[in-house]
Amino acid sequence: VTLKETRAERVLSIQERVLLKRVGVINPESIEEYIAEDGYMALEKAIENGPEWVLEEVKASELRGRGGAGFPTGKKWEFTARAKSDLKYVICNADEGEPGTFKDRVIMEGDPNLLIEGMVLAGYATGANYGYIYIRGEYDLSIKRLQKAIEQARSYGFLGENILGSGFNFDIEIKKGAGAYICGEETALIESIEGKRGEPRKKPPYPPTYGLWGKPTVINNVETLANIPPIVVNGAEWFKKFGVPGSYGTKLFSLMGDVNYKGVIEIPFGEKLSSIINDVGFGVKGGKKLKGVILGGVSGSLITPAELDTPVDFNSLAKIEAGPGSGSIVVLSEDRCIVDIAKNIAYFFRHESCGKCTPCRVGTEEMYKIIDYISRGLGEESDLTRLEKLSTSMKLTSFCGLGQTAPNIIAQSLVKYRDEWLEHIKERKCKANVCEFEEIT
Ligand code: NAD
Ligand code: SF4
Repeated sequence: VTLKETRAERVLSIQERVLLKRVGVINPESIEEYIAEDGYMALEKAIENGPEWVLEEVKASELRGRGGAGFPTGKKWEFTARAKSDLKYVICNADEGEPGTFKDRVIMEGDPNLLIEGMVLAGYATGANYGYIYIRGEYDLSIKRLQKAIEQARSYGFLGENILGSGFNFDIEIKKGAGAYICGEETALIESIEGKRGEPRKKPPYPPTYGLWGKPTVINNVETLANIPPIVVNGAEWFKKFGVPGSYGTKLFSLMGDVNYKGVIEIPFGEKLSSIINDVGFGVKGGKKLKGVILGGVSGSLITPAELDTPVDFNSLAKIEAGPGSGSIVVLSEDRCIVDIAKNIAYFFRHESCGKCTPCRVGTEEMYKIIDYISRGLGEESDLTRLEKLSTSMKLTSFCGLGQTAPNIIAQSLVKYRDEWLEHIKERKCKANVCEFEEIT
């Protein structure tokens, strides 16, 4: 690969910094610096044009949710805006719990006012007067900076009563999560805010019409809300200059694993994974061969080197049963063992299953046990069939997304890296030399 002029130029080569434009540039604890860089301009413009205009602009932008599922944001807001209710809420899902994912943290630490402004705009467009940021409890610095941003926004009249003289009231409260991955699932998150055990609710009804305390609730991921101020300031047509039809805008990813450059990057939808890894990431660490990529977190998908030229957008990725998911790209070199990776993932889900439904509570446990056996050289070929059947039944019958997606990567690895599984079972061999096989007496 030819090196471009400087390292920084190459890292930034295909990036487009829309959401990250102030990160690392302004002091995140100073609302004045945010204001000086066009901050709260979107709110002023929104108030001039009215809530219906904001809603139409967000719909016209075709922005899709950045938490993983890609649901159209404007449609979601419209459900809440049209719902008749005395109270409505906005919740920001900042419980970024997917292993390998830390892109929301960069916004909250680096430009907290962007999120606050996005939430006020969501409240204004949908008629909600109160917002919660449900944040991963371990994100100390994000919490501190968001709290400061909220206080400063109140003092400037961007939050509180009669915002900028418009008659619109909106305030925000931070709720800290206690470390349960399931509380990132929107209805479990809502239960948690209500003071109950974090377990998912049956959907439908969906939160936009029946959410927090049974009231219409817009719940969006941090990155989704961070997209709102630039859309409102610059307009939907400007936004659609980035990305590709079906996936407009940019996307944040945490790039990590066996890659030379790690960090949070912002890429217009439609770029190839190969460019992200080779141009932005400077290729695989140590000049090793690429084994694959875990895209979109451990509930996401496993991409092989042969699939690397797939454009990163919702529709192209769907064709290979993948998606941007939680927004992480974990690069795996040839030195990684697929069975060991599967075991780690199974261990995670066994621990995080909330236990409400049997397919996931028992399935995650069984899955871990089978893979653990194989990793110790005690597996049989029929175990692979058992794993496949278990994956299918978990996908079809688990109550919520956690159990439905827990087998994703394991099931894909059984198809895409089957030889490696068979090597462990038949030859008791781990090429990466990671698995420790037991003596058979
Ligand atoms: P979903 O498809 O059920 O819903 C997506 C969103 O659209 C939800 O907010 C839902 O309420 C709304 N919605 C869907 N249909 C609706 C309707 N008919 N009316 C009104 N609203 C409707 O997906 P989900 O289970 O909420 O999320 C799954 C995604 O979460 C996965 O794609 C996964 O990648 C992602 N995920 C993200 C993280 C992270 O850390 N960001 C962690 C785990 C999973
Ligand atoms: Fe709980 Fe898992 Fe069932 Fe979801 S699928 S309700 S996390 S046990």
